Amino acid sequence: MNQWLMYVNGQWVQSTSGRTYSLINPATRAVTGTAQQGGIADARAAIAAAQGAYKGWAGLTAKERAAYLSKLADSMEQCKEELAGLITLEMGKPLAEARGEVALAAEYLRWSAGEAVRVYGKVIPSSSPDKRLLSVRQPVGPVAAITPWNFPLSMAARKIGPALAAGCTLVLKPAEQTPGVMVRFMELAHEAGIPAGVLNLVTGHPQEIGEELLSNPAIRKITFTGSTAVGKQLMKAATEQVKRVSMELGGHAPLIVFEDADLDIAVAGAVSSKFRNAGQTCICANRIYVQRSVAAEFLERFKQAVEQLVVGDGFEKESAIGPLISEKALNKVRLQVDEAVEKGAQIVTGGKAISRLPGYFYEPTILTAVNDTMLIMQEETFGPVAPVCLFDTEEEVIEQANHAVYGLAAYYYTRDLGRMFRIYESLEYGIIGCNDAVPTAVEGPFGGMKESGIGREGGPDSLADFLETKFVSIRM
Ligand code: NAP
Repeated sequence: MNQWLMYVNGQWVQSTSGRTYSLINPATRAVTGTAQQGGIADARAAIAAAQGAYKGWAGLTAKERAAYLSKLADSMEQCKEELAGLITLEMGKPLAEARGEVALAAEYLRWSAGEAVRVYGKVIPSSSPDKRLLSVRQPVGPVAAITPWNFPLSMAARKIGPALAAGCTLVLKPAEQTPGVMVRFMELAHEAGIPAGVLNLVTGHPQEIGEELLSNPAIRKITFTGSTAVGKQLMKAATEQVKRVSMELGGHAPLIVFEDADLDIAVAGAVSSKFRNAGQTCICANRIYVQRSVAAEFLERFKQAVEQLVVGDGFEKESAIGPLISEKALNKVRLQVDEAVEKGAQIVTGGKAISRLPGYFYEPTILTAVNDTMLIMQEETFGPVAPVCLFDTEEEVIEQANHAVYGLAAYYYTRDLGRMFRIYESLEYGIIGCNDAVPTAVEGPFGGMKESGIGREGGPDSLADFLETKFVSIRM
């Protein structure tokens, strides 16, 4: 049994209330350990630690901060199996995907270390002969980060890397279901010598911790990854003290297959984009649009590929799809499928929960005859269900694809060069995959438009969200 503590000011601490909560393996429903049920007082102590460490950390050279991040990335790679095992235990994804997540998380730290030493200012030509004008960039101050369970390590690393590289200190609140992997990460940070207070971890009551992080004036920025509903609440609260916000929120990605697509690539892409992490990624294809002339062939091949996906415990080697995170998540998928079927959708394959397995498993499912009145076409599914619609023209499908409050990711498959350009220019999404089901890279900016968020993580400007611009006018 794991008994995770919190990490505040370089110390391992229990919650001030002394309360803990149980952690459940979603593949077995067995209790795997406990985590601290922290609250306001714990968040306040962590904020004080981050504030106390801020001057010292911001005062290091960028090269020194980069060295700490590189050392931590090395440790993560050395502990890859252990970290991946914790991810699979806590949230269920297949071990191979968890290993990939650890590698990606380490890469985010390395990328940030590289960017740390490239924070440039400007000397601006002045219109007054007796003045010299400078624009310099400095860290925003102590930062609060709140992260989800679906990529528990990489989503946190994508914030911690640039924040620390920029000179900010940080308080992290991970998701309720996945504290362990981040506690282990903090142990590695401690061993890497990152000074006390620079990184702090508080687990527990989300509303209490969130309220303190947002109302405490020492925190100058909130960086959040999670649902649009919670993101909106946090943004409202952040206005009170005009705290900086970065929001990586929900999505409802369209995936479009044009008649000139290479269908082998399109089918493989649809399977990967829809079913990776059991459909629990923010950039998962949520709606698949296929041009009518190739629809029958696409569906036949898609069905065959989906029926080969092995569902099971993420620790079993052959499992391609693990469980959903919770009973609540399973019920949401059930509701969306049942409601669609009631309204006339046809089940091509799948369509129900898997009762022979002990955890929260749902069959990989394909639906046809879907329409925009169905919940599945409007709300994020976060499960292994692919609704497929037919379309006739480019104009029609672009309108349907853009007809969403979300704007995170979109995919399309075509071999026509002109179409490759036309389509990405018309799609109102922050991340576009053209013949590419995995349009994410540490070197590329990740983030959404519309209700999918504000700001970008990763890429050449990844430190910008953690820096303030200061203008200096020197009269000589
Ligand atoms: P969530 O329910 O919004 O939770 C995310 C985090 O917010 C968790 O740590 C949660 O804590 C915390 N939280 C919840 N209510 C809060 C409150 N009132 N104040 C402060 N913190 C609060 O989302 P989730 O179910 O964990 O994650 C799935 C969602 O994340 C999906 O919508 C997905 O699309 C989105 N996502 C987006 C991206 C992206 O880059 N755009 C990446 C991954 C996931 P508890 O766990 O303790 O409740």
